[in-house]
Amino acid sequence: MPDEIIEKLVIRNIGLMLSGKIEQPIYEADTIIAVNGKITEWGAEKDMDVEGATTTVNANETTLAPGLIDSHVHPVVGDYTPRQQQLHWIDSTLHGGVTTLISAGEVHMPGRPKDIVGLKAMAIASQRWYENFRPSGVKVHAGAPVIEHGMVEEDFADLAKAGVKLLGEVGLGSVKDGRTARQMVDWARKYGIQSTIHTGGPSIPGSGLIDADMVLETGTDVVGHINGGHSALPDDQIVCLCESCKAALEIVHNGNERAALLTLNTARELDKLDQLILGTDGPAGSGVQPLGILRMIAMLSSLGNVPAEVAFCFGNGNTARQRKLDTGLIETGFCADFVLMDQAQHSGGKTLLESVQLGNLPGVGMTVIDGRITSARSRNTPPAWRVPETV
Ligand SMILES: [Zn+2]
Repeated sequence: MPDEIIEKLVIRNIGLMLSGKIEQPIYEADTIIAVNGKITEWGAEKDMDVEGATTTVNANETTLAPGLIDSHVHPVVGDYTPRQQQLHWIDSTLHGGVTTLISAGEVHMPGRPKDIVGLKAMAIASQRWYENFRPSGVKVHAGAPVIEHGMVEEDFADLAKAGVKLLGEVGLGSVKDGRTARQMVDWARKYGIQSTIHTGGPSIPGSGLIDADMVLETGTDVVGHINGGHSALPDDQIVCLCESCKAALEIVHNGNERAALLTLNTARELDKLDQLILGTDGPAGSGVQPLGILRMIAMLSSLGNVPAEVAFCFGNGNTARQRKLDTGLIETGFCADFVLMDQAQHSGGKTLLESVQLGNLPGVGMTVIDGRITSARSRNTPPAWRVPETV
């Protein structure tokens, strides 16, 4: 417990608590407490100290889960994307239950610099402007440079020292051979920078193919959009990646849905469901997907026969663990980032979990980031029967 309690959030009367932990996705608890933005305890209200709250929420028997994480977005600046000329796409995404976004490269910046000093400067600036400004409260981990030929070890050391923690998708720049990519990814890793790769066919005219051999040779921390963005690799290569990789296997909304199910089924056979993480790959040619993570959860749960409480872990806890984040799990000391939701009105099934397993989206009723309420009833999801309320 921190010495000084400045803010204390109590959320009581929770109907179901999802943990984000694939080994134990449901917690027996009706109340959760966060102090100064961090989770301190959860359990039965009668056993907990709910006195002195600065904010109390009556969950009205709805479901609380760790806020969803989108492992693959292409932000540029603020809450604007030039890719489809859209404003407020991040705010819309928050209304889809997503509280954290991870950049796979700010590649839609008009006039994006491809010279080394320029790409480093842009990565550092992008990291800063999203650290300094959270659109609607959403955490955006950005500043993800795309590697180009000519980069040397010192460049990665410089980037890390300046606060850069991610690489953009390998393959979107001029480096398209496994040997060079491997060298740069190793340098990045040496300085604590995480890496991802564009798996599959070209996404738009001008981008290239990355096949399974190149993914394996490069050895990134995340196999970016294993189901293609948009074009997926042939099935045997996807199966090979699932078999060979210890890295995160990222399934995206703006990819091939059949390949997503192949990845899920193969990972399950291999007992690797803990490696599955979700992204949207938006903004992109297919646009912005504010409900993309919820749609992936419902799709994988219903068509892939995964219990909904497990499918939710693909969209929060698994990503948190693979990406080493202090959100996405109900854990002491983790950020109090939550989504509260309930079964959509007139959807099939008796509970939220049954409804999702039948392929329906839940209705988001509230989001919380760092212990503060960031949105109430979603303007984007179908309405739920019950919504939480601030007391
Ligand atoms: Zn890509």
